[in-house]
Amino acid sequence: TASQAAQKRGWHLYLVGGGVRDLLLADPTKIIELQDIDLVVDKAYPIPLKSLQADSIESLETSPQVPETGAGVELARELQQYYPNVRLQVHGRFQTAALLWHKDPELGSLWIDIATARTEFYPYPAANPEVEASSIRQDLYRRDFTINALAIRLTDPRSGTLLDFFGGWRDLEAKVIRVLHANSFIEDPTRIYRAVRFAVRLGFQIESQTESYIRYALESGIYTRSISGNHKTPALQTRLKSELKYILQENYWKPALQLLGDLGALRCIHPTLEFTEELWKQMRLVDRCLKRFQPPEESSEQAVIREPWQLLLEVLLAQLAPEHRAKVAENLQLPDESMTRLQRLDTRNQVIQSRLSQCKSPSQIVQLLQNEDLYTLILIAVQSPRVIRKLIWNYITKLSQIQSPLNGNDLKKMGYKPSPKFKQILDRLLAATLDGEITTRPTAEAFLA
Ligand code: ATP
Repeated sequence: TASQAAQKRGWHLYLVGGGVRDLLLADPTKIIELQDIDLVVDKAYPIPLKSLQADSIESLETSPQVPETGAGVELARELQQYYPNVRLQVHGRFQTAALLWHKDPELGSLWIDIATARTEFYPYPAANPEVEASSIRQDLYRRDFTINALAIRLTDPRSGTLLDFFGGWRDLEAKVIRVLHANSFIEDPTRIYRAVRFAVRLGFQIESQTESYIRYALESGIYTRSISGNHKTPALQTRLKSELKYILQENYWKPALQLLGDLGALRCIHPTLEFTEELWKQMRLVDRCLKRFQPPEESSEQAVIREPWQLLLEVLLAQLAPEHRAKVAENLQLPDESMTRLQRLDTRNQVIQSRLSQCKSPSQIVQLLQNEDLYTLILIAVQSPRVIRKLIWNYITKLSQIQSPLNGNDLKKMGYKPSPKFKQILDRLLAATLDGEITTRPTAEAFLA
């Protein structure tokens, strides 16, 4: 439908980006289902009018021009008329439209982005691109890697043609990640994270010249100003956060992080952040802990880690000196709870480490740790010596699950009148259970006794 809509206006429509890459990489004997489709409309070189049908010419002449939003938006609006259940989002400034199509719970949803072919120029490095309409070649040239700069034409003439201006197919076959120009990483540091993500996910190598551009960009210090400083580049922070999130929530996060560390790319998060042995050790410990807490059992009472990527990111940020953490967490738009946790981490760590070693019974451990949230406990555990870490793991996995054998209702049934003493009684009961003084649920008589 989209290509027909483009065709009748005399425009070209292309499938671009990751969709083309994934199609070319896919096993040709299997059907692949794309969840994300990126389309680009190019009206810079319209199809000659004589190759169009008469009725198409009419609609071309009468079709409304929407110069402020662009051709992509116009096409998306037309598609929405055919599929009214599809949700449409328009990003006027970038001349793009996104269509969200919820198929069914099993098939999931489908995103279709329709952009207008564009070039970009960067008013200063690492800033948001300014957009102007231009041809498909220019549009592909602004992309990150050759393997993502391929397009398949969806309109006639020659629909189905692969457009490969920069050797993307050759690089797909050679399994390499290659940028299109030397300044690529200076313009956009998130591309470093993308290079790593694609390299690890696809089992590709970062091509050596591309790697030297990465190292050059990192050493140039450009990101110190644009990311961790006070320079206002919110769009860049958002993209960096989503690339980080993307990496940390995939099962390949460990090799990806290691590669980022080898390249020195953690510097994009903060100039002092490095991939040390200590950080690696902490990450491995968190990994073990994540395996312990996943997958979440719906019925389980046990605490679960709902956002593993966020915990991993907090472990990274916890490596920074305390005075830098809040700023970096704010730049990356982490939730308030993360920022608070990272700010009070060192104080809590000191208190807990010194008091834990003095605890003489399980009930004392529970009393010390029960008001800390799970993420704080894990952050402290991975930074602690083994003996303290074991105590915290034991609390998280065992002690925190133990409940008092009686609750307030049981006490009422035994004839006690509700009073502030209830809590004391129940706390005492729990402590006795934790310390092994009570092993079975007490009867009313035994309890009174
Ligand atoms: P994935 O399967 O991981 O989603 P993708 O290639 O579809 O891979 P997207 O983030 O959806 O990744 O981006 C779509 C396309 O937009 C990319 O293929 C690439 O051409 C282009 N692109 C995305 N981010 C950048 C960037 N930072 N710089 C240049 N081009 C980019």
